[in-house]
Amino acid sequence: TLDPHPPAELLARRARAIGPSLSISYAEKLKMVRGEGPWLIDHSGRRYLDAVNNITHVGHCNPQVVAAIARQAGILNTNTRYLSELILDYSERLTAKLPGDLKVAYFVNSGTEANELALRIARTAMGKKSTVVLDWAYHGNSGGMVDVSPYKFKRKGGYPQPDFVEIAAFPDPYRGPHKGMSEASGRAYAGDVARCLEAVRAKTGTSAAAFIAESISGVGGQVVYPDGYLKSVYEQVRAAGGLCIADEVQCGFGRVGETFWGFELQGVVPDIVVMGKPIGNGHPLAAVVTTRELAATFANGMEYFNSFGGNPVSMAVGMAVLDVIEGEGLQQTALETGRYMLDRFRDMARRAPLIGDVRGRGLFSGVELVRNQETLEPATAEAGWIVNHIRQQGVLASTDGPLDNVLKFKPPMVFGRAEADILCDALERAFADLAASGPSAAG
Ligand code: PMP
Repeated sequence: TLDPHPPAELLARRARAIGPSLSISYAEKLKMVRGEGPWLIDHSGRRYLDAVNNITHVGHCNPQVVAAIARQAGILNTNTRYLSELILDYSERLTAKLPGDLKVAYFVNSGTEANELALRIARTAMGKKSTVVLDWAYHGNSGGMVDVSPYKFKRKGGYPQPDFVEIAAFPDPYRGPHKGMSEASGRAYAGDVARCLEAVRAKTGTSAAAFIAESISGVGGQVVYPDGYLKSVYEQVRAAGGLCIADEVQCGFGRVGETFWGFELQGVVPDIVVMGKPIGNGHPLAAVVTTRELAATFANGMEYFNSFGGNPVSMAVGMAVLDVIEGEGLQQTALETGRYMLDRFRDMARRAPLIGDVRGRGLFSGVELVRNQETLEPATAEAGWIVNHIRQQGVLASTDGPLDNVLKFKPPMVFGRAEADILCDALERAFADLAASGPSAAG
């Protein structure tokens, strides 16, 4: 069927109607018209395997989630100032998934808002503002979040590091100064957080309010921290009088396979946990969970109200997402498919000299491309070329990391071995084609 509004027409309208700071994927722009499990279907009816959308956690247009939205939207949708068992049922079920005293939830509409609230809770409780962040971190799109996101403020269009923010060295065991996943490497990187804590004390005469980090770095290029890194960092931050916040927006909710939360891989328990993206499967839902003690301190007289956060439709969605994760055993799928994919990537690395590093946990993985295995010269153009090549074959992925040379994979969790094979076969062909066309092919 002929599409009355093909991509070229939409692109022209978009240039006039939508703010130009919004980018669009691929040189050959795609118009998606339908989603189905791990698949996206474009205007011409072509099916693409989605290997990168971690928001649609339980699959595009998951029927249970769609039914939950429709059902609750037809019954009641209002704010949280009336009693409802939905928000209580969901809070109790969600916090049951968390260790320790992490038993009090706040519901908001985006990861940005959730991180904003997490920092407000920490800063209010501690009565100070300074924050230690990781290099290349991204925590959201608001002014307050760009301030704690070196990935944004250090880049083009950014601004100088705010004086209340200290940037700790990126604990990258492949490219950073300390190599490998050992505890020695973890402790060495954690030493840089000690430097940041001292810098805060020297500047302000007191400790930092908080340390915030993803449990595995997403925009930093799927970087898994060395063993013991967060453990050592949390100890130091707490000893200095600060709180620890885990941003689980990308890596939470069973994606890493072995555990439900990314921080569990590092053997730590945060003071505040931030969740977003997958929690609503694309419906705007995000959450902050903290301890009763911190929640009580935050209730200092100023109300926290959120027009949409925690509404009955969102709560029904959150519940449906957990039902599907548990009902379909998706954490186990992430573990098994994830291991299989990582094995195939490692096998590919034996034939593809461009592959410098294969890393990740579960269905959260990355393949870093380099031109030289010794100097680690980034193969940025090649990474873009590979992503475009597999797109031509009908598979969607992306590149990321500070050098934009990491192939990034974080598919919907309904990604089985069959889907992993489609992705990996496409990658094999792309690497072979690139090798056959010579080093200048990628430009
Ligand atoms: N934290 C992390 C780690 C993220 O990846 C993102 C989004 N890319 C956010 C926070 C912000 O979430 P949102 O876009 O929902 O505001």
